[in-house]
Amino acid sequence: MARYLGAACRLCRREGMKLFLKGERCYTEKCAVERKNYPPGQHGQGRQKNSNYGLQLREKQKAKRIFGVLEGQFRNYFKRAERKSGITGENLLCMLETRFDNIAYHLGFASSRKGARQLIRHGHLKINGRKVNIPTYQLKQGDTIELREKSKKIEWIKEAMESAEHRGIPQWLEIVPGKFTGTVRNLPTREDIALPIQEQLIVELYSK
Ligand code: SF4
Repeated sequence: MARYLGAACRLCRREGMKLFLKGERCYTEKCAVERKNYPPGQHGQGRQKNSNYGLQLREKQKAKRIFGVLEGQFRNYFKRAERKSGITGENLLCMLETRFDNIAYHLGFASSRKGARQLIRHGHLKINGRKVNIPTYQLKQGDTIELREKSKKIEWIKEAMESAEHRGIPQWLEIVPGKFTGTVRNLPTREDIALPIQEQLIVELYSK
Protein backbone atom coordinates (compact mmCIF):
# COMPACT_ATOMS: atom_id res chain seq x y z
CA MET A 1 0.00 0.00 0.00
CA ALA A 2 1.31 3.45 -0.92
CA ARG A 3 2.26 5.71 1.94
CA TYR A 4 4.15 8.94 2.57
CA LEU A 5 7.77 8.24 3.43
CA GLY A 6 9.09 11.79 3.79
CA ALA A 7 9.76 13.74 6.99
CA ALA A 8 6.56 14.16 9.02
CA CYS A 9 7.63 17.49 10.50
CA ARG A 10 7.88 19.04 7.04
CA LEU A 11 4.14 18.45 6.66
CA CYS A 12 3.38 20.39 9.84
CA ARG A 13 5.68 23.22 8.80
CA ARG A 14 3.98 23.34 5.39
CA GLU A 15 0.57 23.68 7.06
CA GLY A 16 1.92 26.19 9.58
CA MET A 17 0.63 24.27 12.57
CA LYS A 18 1.22 21.21 14.70
CA LEU A 19 -0.49 18.18 13.18
CA PHE A 20 0.77 15.88 15.96
CA LEU A 21 2.24 13.24 13.66
CA LYS A 22 5.12 12.12 15.85
CA GLY A 23 3.68 11.25 19.20
CA GLU A 24 5.31 12.57 22.35
CA ARG A 25 7.94 14.57 20.49
CA CYS A 26 5.15 16.92 19.37
CA TYR A 27 4.70 18.06 22.98
CA THR A 28 8.36 18.97 23.50
CA GLU A 29 10.50 21.89 22.43
CA LYS A 30 12.05 19.61 19.79
CA CYS A 31 8.92 20.09 17.70
CA ALA A 32 9.93 21.61 14.36
CA VAL A 33 6.96 24.00 14.35
CA GLU A 34 8.19 25.45 17.66
CA ARG A 35 11.68 25.93 16.25
CA LYS A 36 11.02 26.90 12.61
CA ASN A 37 7.47 28.06 12.11
CA TYR A 38 7.66 28.73 8.37
CA PRO A 39 7.19 26.44 5.35
CA PRO A 40 10.12 24.17 4.48
CA GLY A 41 12.27 24.58 1.40
CA GLN A 42 14.30 27.31 -0.24
CA HIS A 43 11.37 29.72 -0.59
CA GLY A 44 9.76 28.83 2.69
CA GLN A 45 10.36 32.25 4.21
CA GLY A 46 9.24 34.13 1.11
CA ARG A 47 5.85 35.72 0.51
CA GLN A 48 2.96 33.23 0.58
CA LYS A 49 0.12 33.59 -1.96
CA ASN A 50 -3.35 33.09 -0.52
CA SER A 51 -5.70 32.59 -3.46
CA ASN A 52 -9.08 30.98 -2.89
CA TYR A 53 -7.86 27.82 -4.56
CA GLY A 54 -4.71 27.87 -2.43
CA LEU A 55 -6.74 28.05 0.78
CA GLN A 56 -8.99 25.19 -0.32
CA LEU A 57 -6.01 23.09 -1.32
CA ARG A 58 -4.22 23.70 1.99
CA GLU A 59 -7.33 22.69 3.93
CA LYS A 60 -7.58 19.42 2.04
CA GLN A 61 -3.87 18.71 2.46
CA LYS A 62 -4.11 19.44 6.17
CA ALA A 63 -7.00 16.97 6.65
CA LYS A 64 -5.20 14.28 4.62
CA ARG A 65 -2.05 14.73 6.63
CA ILE A 66 -3.71 14.70 10.03
CA PHE A 67 -5.45 11.40 9.26
CA GLY A 68 -2.58 9.93 7.22
CA VAL A 69 -4.70 9.41 4.11
CA LEU A 70 -3.38 9.68 0.54
CA GLU A 71 -5.15 11.49 -2.31
CA GLY A 72 -7.03 8.58 -3.95
CA GLN A 73 -8.35 7.28 -0.65
CA PHE A 74 -9.31 10.77 0.49
CA ARG A 75 -11.27 11.33 -2.70
CA ASN A 76 -13.10 8.05 -2.12
CA TYR A 77 -14.04 9.21 1.37
CA PHE A 78 -15.35 12.40 -0.15
CA LYS A 79 -17.49 10.52 -2.69
CA ARG A 80 -18.95 8.39 0.08
CA ALA A 81 -19.60 11.49 2.19
CA GLU A 82 -21.45 13.07 -0.74
CA ARG A 83 -23.72 10.04 -1.13
CA LYS A 84 -24.75 10.10 2.53
CA SER A 85 -27.58 12.29 3.73
CA GLY A 86 -26.62 15.38 5.69
CA ILE A 87 -23.80 17.89 5.23
CA THR A 88 -21.02 16.50 3.04
CA GLY A 89 -18.13 18.17 4.90
CA GLU A 90 -19.37 16.94 8.26
CA ASN A 91 -19.97 13.45 6.90
CA LEU A 92 -16.40 13.43 5.61
CA LEU A 93 -14.91 14.41 8.96
CA CYS A 94 -17.13 11.96 10.82
CA MET A 95 -15.99 9.09 8.60
CA LEU A 96 -12.33 9.96 9.06
CA GLU A 97 -12.79 10.40 12.79
CA THR A 98 -14.42 6.97 13.20
CA ARG A 99 -11.68 5.04 11.41
CA PHE A 100 -10.23 2.31 13.59
CA ASP A 101 -6.73 3.85 13.66
CA ASN A 102 -8.04 7.26 14.66
CA ILE A 103 -10.17 5.88 17.49
CA ALA A 104 -7.29 3.68 18.71
CA TYR A 105 -5.17 6.84 18.84
CA HIS A 106 -7.84 8.82 20.69
CA LEU A 107 -8.24 6.02 23.22
CA GLY A 108 -4.50 6.22 23.91
CA PHE A 109 -3.39 2.83 22.59
CA ALA A 110 -0.69 4.66 20.63
CA SER A 111 0.91 8.08 20.79
CA SER A 112 0.18 8.94 17.14
CA ARG A 113 -2.23 7.84 14.40
CA LYS A 114 0.70 6.29 12.58
CA GLY A 115 1.59 4.29 15.70
CA ALA A 116 -2.03 3.19 15.98
CA ARG A 117 -2.00 1.94 12.38
CA GLN A 118 1.07 -0.14 13.13
CA LEU A 119 -0.52 -1.55 16.28
CA ILE A 120 -3.61 -2.57 14.32
CA ARG A 121 -1.72 -4.08 11.39
CA HIS A 122 0.28 -6.20 13.82
CA GLY A 123 -2.95 -7.57 15.27
CA HIS A 124 -2.65 -6.15 18.80
CA LEU A 125 -6.22 -4.83 18.94
CA LYS A 126 -9.63 -6.46 18.82
CA ILE A 127 -13.05 -5.05 18.00
CA ASN A 128 -15.99 -6.64 19.83
CA GLY A 129 -13.75 -9.58 20.76
CA ARG A 130 -12.52 -10.27 17.20
CA LYS A 131 -9.06 -9.48 15.86
CA VAL A 132 -9.28 -6.78 13.18
CA ASN A 133 -6.08 -5.70 11.45
CA ILE A 134 -7.54 -3.13 9.05
CA PRO A 135 -6.71 0.45 10.14
CA THR A 136 -9.42 1.91 7.89
CA TYR A 137 -12.18 -0.21 9.46
CA GLN A 138 -15.15 2.03 10.23
CA LEU A 139 -16.41 1.80 13.80
CA LYS A 140 -20.03 2.17 14.89
CA GLN A 141 -21.80 3.27 18.02
CA GLY A 142 -21.38 0.67 20.77
CA ASP A 143 -18.26 -0.97 19.29
CA THR A 144 -15.66 -1.98 21.84
CA ILE A 145 -11.91 -1.95 21.23
CA GLU A 146 -9.63 -3.93 23.42
CA LEU A 147 -5.96 -4.79 23.57
CA ARG A 148 -5.23 -8.47 22.94
CA GLU A 149 -4.41 -10.33 26.16
CA LYS A 150 -0.82 -11.09 25.14
CA SER A 151 -0.19 -7.48 24.12
CA LYS A 152 -1.12 -6.13 27.58
CA LYS A 153 2.32 -7.15 28.78
CA ILE A 154 4.23 -5.30 26.07
CA GLU A 155 6.14 -2.51 27.72
CA TRP A 156 6.11 0.05 24.88
CA ILE A 157 2.32 -0.24 24.53
CA LYS A 158 1.88 0.32 28.28
CA GLU A 159 4.20 3.33 28.09
CA ALA A 160 2.31 4.75 25.11
CA MET A 161 -0.97 4.40 27.03
CA GLU A 162 0.42 6.10 30.11
CA SER A 163 1.92 8.99 28.18
CA ALA A 164 -1.33 9.44 26.19
CA GLU A 165 -3.29 10.21 29.37
CA HIS A 166 -2.43 13.92 29.22
CA ARG A 167 -4.15 14.24 25.81
CA GLY A 168 -7.58 13.44 27.24
CA ILE A 169 -10.29 11.47 25.44
CA PRO A 170 -13.15 12.92 23.37
CA GLN A 171 -16.49 12.68 25.17
CA TRP A 172 -17.97 10.43 22.45
CA LEU A 173 -15.47 7.74 23.45
CA GLU A 174 -15.00 5.98 26.75
CA ILE A 175 -12.03 4.11 28.19
CA VAL A 176 -12.17 1.69 31.10
CA PRO A 177 -9.16 2.62 33.26
CA GLY A 178 -6.73 -0.25 33.78
CA LYS A 179 -8.70 -2.61 31.51
CA PHE A 180 -7.15 -1.67 28.13
CA THR A 181 -10.67 -1.41 26.74
CA GLY A 182 -12.54 1.47 25.12
CA THR A 183 -16.02 1.96 23.68
CA VAL A 184 -17.62 4.21 21.06
CA ARG A 185 -20.40 5.81 23.12
CA ASN A 186 -21.91 7.58 20.14
CA LEU A 187 -20.83 8.75 16.71
CA PRO A 188 -19.21 12.19 16.81
CA THR A 189 -21.02 15.31 15.65
CA ARG A 190 -19.07 18.22 14.14
CA GLU A 191 -18.90 19.90 17.56
CA ASP A 192 -17.19 16.81 18.96
CA ILE A 193 -14.38 16.94 16.39
CA ALA A 194 -11.82 19.34 17.76
CA LEU A 195 -9.70 19.66 14.65
CA PRO A 196 -8.70 22.94 12.99
CA ILE A 197 -10.22 21.95 9.63
CA GLN A 198 -12.62 24.08 7.59
CA GLU A 199 -14.32 21.20 5.81
CA GLN A 200 -16.43 23.54 3.69
CA LEU A 201 -13.28 24.58 1.81
CA ILE A 202 -12.58 20.92 0.97
CA VAL A 203 -16.13 20.53 -0.34
CA GLU A 204 -15.68 23.65 -2.50
CA LEU A 205 -12.41 22.32 -3.86
CA TYR A 206 -13.85 18.97 -4.91
CA SER A 207 -17.04 20.54 -6.26
CA LYS A 208 -15.25 22.51 -9.00
FE1 SF4 B 1 4.52 18.17 13.73
FE2 SF4 B 1 5.04 16.67 15.82
FE3 SF4 B 1 6.99 17.27 14.09
FE4 SF4 B 1 5.98 19.10 15.74
S1 SF4 B 1 7.12 17.25 16.31
S2 SF4 B 1 6.42 19.37 13.60
S3 SF4 B 1 3.80 18.55 15.79
S4 SF4 B 1 5.16 16.05 13.69
